[in-house]
Amino acid sequence: MRILYGLVILLLASSLSARSAQEYLPPDADPDPGIPTPESVLGWDVGDWHVSHDRLVQYMQTLAAASPRVSIKVIGYTYEQRPLLQLAITSAENQGKLETLRQQHLDGDGPLVVWLGYSVHGDEASGSNASMLAAYYLASSRSDFVNELLDGSVVLIDPSINPDGLNRFASWANSNAGKMPVSDPVTREHIQDWPRGRTNHYWFDLNRDWLPLVHPESRARIVEYHRWLPHLLTDYHEQGGYPGFFFQPGVPSRQNPLTPMENLELTRALAQYHSQAMDRAGQPHFTEEAYDDFYYGKGSTYPDINGSIGILFEQRAIRGQELRTSNGTETFQMAVANQLRMSLSSLQGSWALRERLKAYQSGFHAAMLERAQSRNFSAWVIGDDGDPARARFFLNMLDLHQIEYRLLAETVRTDSHEFSPGHAWVIPVRQRQFGLLEAMMEQRPRFEDNTFYDVSAWTLPLANNLPFATLNRVPSSAAAIESSSGLPPDANSPAWAVRWNQLDTPAMLQELLAAEVKVRVAIKSFSAQTNGGPRIFEAGTLVVQAGIQTPDALQKSHEILGDSAMAGLDVYSFGSTMTVVGPDLGSRHFKLIKPINPLLVGGSGTSAYGVGEQWFVLDYHLQIPVTIVEQQRLDKINLWDYTHLLLADGEYDSITNGLKKAITRWIKDGGILVTINRASSWAESLCFESEPDDCEVVESAITDNEPVTARAYSDFVDDKAKQVIGGAIVASVLDLSHPLTFGYRRAELPLFRRGTTVLEPSNNAYSTPVRYTSNPLLAGYIGDDRLAAFRGQAAVIAEKQGEGLIIRFANNPVFRGFWRGTEKLFINALYFGQVIDPTELPEFEPPPKPEIPRQQ
Ligand SMILES: [Zn+2]
Repeated sequence: MRILYGLVILLLASSLSARSAQEYLPPDADPDPGIPTPESVLGWDVGDWHVSHDRLVQYMQTLAAASPRVSIKVIGYTYEQRPLLQLAITSAENQGKLETLRQQHLDGDGPLVVWLGYSVHGDEASGSNASMLAAYYLASSRSDFVNELLDGSVVLIDPSINPDGLNRFASWANSNAGKMPVSDPVTREHIQDWPRGRTNHYWFDLNRDWLPLVHPESRARIVEYHRWLPHLLTDYHEQGGYPGFFFQPGVPSRQNPLTPMENLELTRALAQYHSQAMDRAGQPHFTEEAYDDFYYGKGSTYPDINGSIGILFEQRAIRGQELRTSNGTETFQMAVANQLRMSLSSLQGSWALRERLKAYQSGFHAAMLERAQSRNFSAWVIGDDGDPARARFFLNMLDLHQIEYRLLAETVRTDSHEFSPGHAWVIPVRQRQFGLLEAMMEQRPRFEDNTFYDVSAWTLPLANNLPFATLNRVPSSAAAIESSSGLPPDANSPAWAVRWNQLDTPAMLQELLAAEVKVRVAIKSFSAQTNGGPRIFEAGTLVVQAGIQTPDALQKSHEILGDSAMAGLDVYSFGSTMTVVGPDLGSRHFKLIKPINPLLVGGSGTSAYGVGEQWFVLDYHLQIPVTIVEQQRLDKINLWDYTHLLLADGEYDSITNGLKKAITRWIKDGGILVTINRASSWAESLCFESEPDDCEVVESAITDNEPVTARAYSDFVDDKAKQVIGGAIVASVLDLSHPLTFGYRRAELPLFRRGTTVLEPSNNAYSTPVRYTSNPLLAGYIGDDRLAAFRGQAAVIAEKQGEGLIIRFANNPVFRGFWRGTEKLFINALYFGQVIDPTELPEFEPPPKPEIPRQQ
């Protein structure tokens, strides 16, 4: 059987021109025959197949076991429980004192440290496949260069930054590969199914997660990054749009202005080595175009604000065995060879430039301290907004980025906010990580260049809706104390209450509902006597009444409320169901929350990011078993089995008119449709009139026959940039009386704004709980015309149709899993959509004014 298997592989692989590891390596490599080659472990030559993650791990472990130059460590696990590997390669002698060398390096007097990171985008797989060759080369080569390099350096290899995505893609590429390679770009092998292998398990882009650190891959990596603080970090990708290989520098005018200019000079110096290596191989390449170093959440940009040099590489994607391109037929082997070439040129360049790189890093943090002193303020203060768990999410991010803060110990008043001791933190500007800290906190509204590869703003306190301010003096502070658990609930109480403003209350609600506990939500605020004294409770507070539960549910509610209090949620026990002020617990102002069963729509046409972000909130945070159905299969589904239909950003062309009619009937029967971005524009085409003709949209006739103002052809790119909203932060105002805003205490809420969706205003005066302010831009770039289009307009609209509801979001409230300030709007749509009452005023025609002769 084994022989037969080998024979099949041999037959399949035979039509490719196989290339042994030695053939990939430079001519002077002189590999030690005692070190296992990739092909000796895999059974095939690198480049013939796409390596699956388990085989990659197998090779790296075999290599580490055989070579005294290689040590290997599992730094964490992905959601799918794949190990995240880190290889440390250095001379055998250095291996014995690796920890000492690391310390010496951090003290500014150690070896060169280079970090090679591969294929953060799982379907840009040439990197991970090349990582085996790079590791083999360093482990086996007896050349003078490698001996000298390993005596004076530690090379860290992260062979697969995104194992779950790599594996998803390898399965696709291998299972669609033929015996005969197909270079036709339209064949199935080159076009992945939805969702592609680019992203991680929840379909997030890990190459945007270096700042927010939402995912285990990023969290494990950032710890190692700061443990090692490499001089150079390389980031190997693939691209589909350009004929040549890209390496940095990117567009110089789009480099983040917080990055020191010397970083660009060193990047240019390294580029000489890459260019020479590419020229020797006759490979076309380019720099200073298309890509940039602006958003610090990318792997090649985060190092730039931490004293390292980050370098992005972009090989043309083959996505299969070979591809017909404008350069001719290019093979996966060529792609792998290029990534290896750029790994070796990075090592050669950084070794040659080691003294400059070391001096740059040693001076970096001192330069940042100097920068801190030049700022006209001394500290940031940031409050918990009455929700310590949300603040903890933000502070945890600071911890991972090695940023220092202390608990505020005195009351601080600013123009807009009062910060209380114990409920706010002081982040002094005078600290080693000031560079990164400023990059996380700043609100930049103007830019040298208005084109952005990714978002133009990410101010993290705004994303978490935490009040913050700069201060001219550092207020008194104390060491942070461990957060204590709340009062345990009194099992004999007739009712318990939990405020909705806390980050973790929704997960507790879901747990209660899953245990068949009857939970009510306060529609009005009230005050009551509790075990913690008299308290005021806002609308949105959850109330569990003992008397209406089954014995099982009552038992469960004791457990869940008790566990929640232990975990830090404020759970209050009431002495009576009669309140002091406001409605009593048995009144109609406490509405029962029915369990929810949402249907999340995915599939081709939808944004996998957008669907993944909702999946993540529902599954990971709220622990709802969520059904995901491709829009192409939606007509086979009985919508009436579900309470919510969730449509993320995307095109919904597959939804036929017949299905649209079913959706409208389902809404009228009580279904809740929640739409985001382009899905919201799509939802505006649903027809609820009994006469469909009444829905015919009258296309506004194009009447402007005015002559177009002539523009230079070369102005097009800039003009287009002005029309793109790549990602900015804008201010909105909440109607705090609306159930969709329950849990918010301050009327102003920062929103993430991307794309150009503008909602059609509602005819109902009570249906716009969130509206952009008239001067909304808080941070980032939005062109004047685009900004004008949504000033003062609706950001969220919730309209009743029959028994049901349509909730349209102009923008994404769960962007990349770190916009936890707006996440609650989405969660409210899930749980509180059902308690929104109709708000149709009765028909009223004002009577004609009587003619009354004026007296006096
Ligand atoms: Zn990429």
